[in-house]
Amino acid sequence: MSHTKTHRCPKCFGRAFSVTAHVAQNWAVDEYGNYIEVIADATDIIHRPNDEDLWSCLNCGHEASGEIFTKTVVPDYHFSICQLNPNGTNYRDLAFSNLKNLERRGLEVCKDNYIHIFSGERSRNDSALDALEKLYTRFNTDIPDGFKGHSLSVSDIVVFQSELLDKTPLTAYFCDSFGWVELPNWGKS
Ligand SMILES: [Zn+2]
Repeated sequence: MSHTKTHRCPKCFGRAFSVTAHVAQNWAVDEYGNYIEVIADATDIIHRPNDEDLWSCLNCGHEASGEIFTKTVVPDYHFSICQLNPNGTNYRDLAFSNLKNLERRGLEVCKDNYIHIFSGERSRNDSALDALEKLYTRFNTDIPDGFKGHSLSVSDIVVFQSELLDKTPLTAYFCDSFGWVELPNWGKS
């Protein structure tokens, strides 16, 4: 059995499963050979779970042959770009301000001041930082049709989430003067 093949639940993309293995046990027996108790468990593995066995997702309970679980295509993660609402009350104070500048004036990054501008998919193979840098370049030099915001700049927010993985928390990043700052409380209010 290959240990590099990955299994993912096609329903919930879970990574943990219940499978049946066949193992040897040492028993204590009586004089007739009748079972009394287990002395040692799993002394030998007779059959490791393989892709012909039934696999059951520990997260959602979905059952199928292991083969099915190896064919799951996990969707790309989603990104959303949020920008300050130009009609919001504090827009003039907040627009294009970096975090230091906001802090100095006693202002905070508040979700209520933002509106959703654009969503799309990003490769799940990129680290968050790589994905942010790619988005920054794309939304400054190669802006997609239908994008109604301004080019990605200081005070904008990028949110990452896999919408299909309800257990994956979203992560939000503030575009600061020099790089990105994660906003741990975004989406919790
Ligand atoms: Zn599942």
